[in-house]
Amino acid sequence: MIAESARQQRLLALQAIVTRLDQIVHARTHLPQLAELADLGSKAALLDDQLIRSRTELGDIQRELRKADADVQQVRDRVTRDQARLDSGTGSAKDLQAIQHELTSLARRQAELEDIELEVMERAEAIESDIAELERGRGELGERIARLEQDRDARLAELDGEAATVGHPREDLAAQVGEDLLALYEKIRTSSGGTGAAPLRQRRCGGCQLELNPVDLQRIRTAADDEVVRCEECRRILVRTPESGL
Ligand SMILES: [Zn+2]
Repeated sequence: MIAESARQQRLLALQAIVTRLDQIVHARTHLPQLAELADLGSKAALLDDQLIRSRTELGDIQRELRKADADVQQVRDRVTRDQARLDSGTGSAKDLQAIQHELTSLARRQAELEDIELEVMERAEAIESDIAELERGRGELGERIARLEQDRDARLAELDGEAATVGHPREDLAAQVGEDLLALYEKIRTSSGGTGAAPLRQRRCGGCQLELNPVDLQRIRTAADDEVVRCEECRRILVRTPESGL
């Protein structure tokens, strides 16, 4: 292919832009914040699960506590009624003795139920304290995640800004390279990991970094300036520069 030297030089400038844009795309998806966010995200999900379980457990215990409270209250009401009857002194001596007897067993029953109530209350307090601890941890985690998301978004905005600046001259350069050379370049770029054109520097291909053999060097030396030459190793377009060492 024939393309004047200036167009070939433009191709190097275009390649530099494309390479930087590729690096920016890579950087966007490999931000350190992304890995950390993924890690903290799974920790948050774990804490959320634990919180749901603990809150469910607390709900169960609170129901148990209401039942225990009601049981105790029922016995207390009965005691109050019996005591009132006893205090009124109405009824036969036998009746009053029976009430006295019942009051004794009610007192025992009340003590038992109050023990149960206390035990349930202690369990409720323990789970409430667990929940408070989980919520505190989850809150801290949420703050760390929010800060990281801010860092990530700031870094993404920076990269987007850089991409816009770097990419700005791309279209003009592509037009200056010209359709035929650009088409060849794009074809090679696609099949060569993103680099379609490289400078020849110190007898070395800037694409594959291999030193050219004397035969190829001699061929390039004698080639016209506007002849598009390619690296025999990697097939990339080799652009001659003042540092080519020819
Ligand atoms: Zn090469």
